[in-house]
Amino acid sequence: MIRKDSPLEHSAHAAIDMAEPRALLDRFATLTRESGSDDERRAGEYIAGRLRALGVPLTVHEPELFLSIPERSELRVVDGPNGAQASIRSRPPAFARPTGATELTGELLYVPSRYAGGTADLFDTPLAAVSTGGGADPVAGRVVLTEGYSMPGVVHAFERRGAIGQIYIHPGAAIHEGICTPIWGAPTHESIQRKPRTPVVCVSHPDGDRLIALANAGRTTVGIRTWLKEGWAPCLLPVAEIRGAEDPDEFILVHGHYDSWYVGIGDNATGDAALLELARVLDGLRDRLKRTVRVAWWPGHSTGRYAGSVWYADHFADELDEWCVAHLNIDSPGCTGATAYEEVMWMAEAAEVCIDSIADASGTFAKGMRPLRAGDYSFNQIGPTAFYMLLSNIPQEERKARGDYAVGGCGGSPTWHTPDDGPAVADLDVLGRDLRIYLTTILRVANTPLHPFDYGATMAEIAAAVGRYQEAAGGDVDLDPIVEDLRALRADWGRWRNDAERAVADAPGDAARRRRLNATIRRLARILVPLNYARGERFDHDPAVKLPAVPRLEAAALLAGAPAAMRPFVRTALVRERNKVRAMLREARRLLV
Ligand SMILES: [Zn+2]
Repeated sequence: MIRKDSPLEHSAHAAIDMAEPRALLDRFATLTRESGSDDERRAGEYIAGRLRALGVPLTVHEPELFLSIPERSELRVVDGPNGAQASIRSRPPAFARPTGATELTGELLYVPSRYAGGTADLFDTPLAAVSTGGGADPVAGRVVLTEGYSMPGVVHAFERRGAIGQIYIHPGAAIHEGICTPIWGAPTHESIQRKPRTPVVCVSHPDGDRLIALANAGRTTVGIRTWLKEGWAPCLLPVAEIRGAEDPDEFILVHGHYDSWYVGIGDNATGDAALLELARVLDGLRDRLKRTVRVAWWPGHSTGRYAGSVWYADHFADELDEWCVAHLNIDSPGCTGATAYEEVMWMAEAAEVCIDSIADASGTFAKGMRPLRAGDYSFNQIGPTAFYMLLSNIPQEERKARGDYAVGGCGGSPTWHTPDDGPAVADLDVLGRDLRIYLTTILRVANTPLHPFDYGATMAEIAAAVGRYQEAAGGDVDLDPIVEDLRALRADWGRWRNDAERAVADAPGDAARRRRLNATIRRLARILVPLNYARGERFDHDPAVKLPAVPRLEAAALLAGAPAAMRPFVRTALVRERNKVRAMLREARRLLV
């Protein structure tokens, strides 16, 4: 039962004042918040300074983060058909291999691909990058030219096939900044091996067309030079804390990144402004807030692959594991023209609280999607429930009519990750409406006696995925036991939740019991969230490549297509994963007896 305290929500909405957000946006419009830079530090100090001035309790951490800052690149056609030569504007993504002055030269090979259709497939690895069609691979030893953003899955796939350099053609006239490493946050001595090994550059669509024409006309040799600054750098990481009045150990983590490409107003100064206003409003209401709210601003998102939130996950793992009720990510809210809530991410268990909060706070019906393996969702392997990342967007219909292509922020505006992401991208009215949504959702999660998440919906989502895997495995490995486990677990959960609701309603003053019951709900989440969203161990960080639901069982989807000689190996892997999943589900059932 979700507690909707209308007078409290009304007070919170009435307390929103756009003065603080406006001042932050004005200040951030003067700061190029590249991680590890003076401007980023000034931004961190600005946030900390405002919180101190407002009297909101805060801690400023100063972690050393592993970053790769793209400086510049040079791309030239050394020798094309009929002796063609050209110099082509390009940008390297973070974590491309730096060549420095030593130019890499190689023969250009065009591998036709496609552009992402929307947010949901932004991180897909196009088939063009993985299929070799048998025989000698033409990619080996060549510089690949292909369409799309230089996402880690595709960059890695071409490296595996032996590409020596990579050129990505962006969908429009602009070159969008980005990052190509699959390593999530700081590398370990093992994962550092997965750092990209080739120089990678991105070019505009018109320039890409010129290169394609050359490659199609005949043998074309290109030269690439890349300069990036890679290494560890200290960054500020401010965290405000508004203590709850009833169950202060239990906390909701509300967070977003404050580093940016260029001055990054839509991505993510608007989010930083929202976080600051949330901290201010919630602090004013702290006597009526039952649980604690932590508000965190991350550095290292853009050039460290979420390095700030990963550092926090690593260094506050115990508290997150034990006490984190849920986390809410804020990226690119409040952008001009963003009137729709059509691609809002939430985990299945949070669907009801998100849909209701958005409807009540904005009068809009939101459409949800499964959170991508992206953004600062660095906590899935600890296991709190999560919701939101991008929130309001320019309506899809409108973007289609304009001919806009898919981007990963700025409310869908093509200014994303370019120098054009300036003050005009922000709209304070839209940001005000997004703030009402955030406040409504936070207050409901903070003040509902029993954590308001429907894990029955999560179990249904997991069961549906297992069903698909079962079908894909075609009886080769029997996943029926998992289906049965899930059926039993859902029944257990339904009973347990009813009993718990009744117990809390019967004795609302029994804080000890309420806390015990909520602790059980959090333990359940610590099993179900990693099961649904992670492939690796708890407290680790899976690579930044697309993961399907219940990724542990993905081997099932490979079985049918695997060459006959490979099938026994895939089957072996799947049997082991089935065992792990069953053990997790047994653990879950034990919590609910
Ligand atoms: Zn962002």
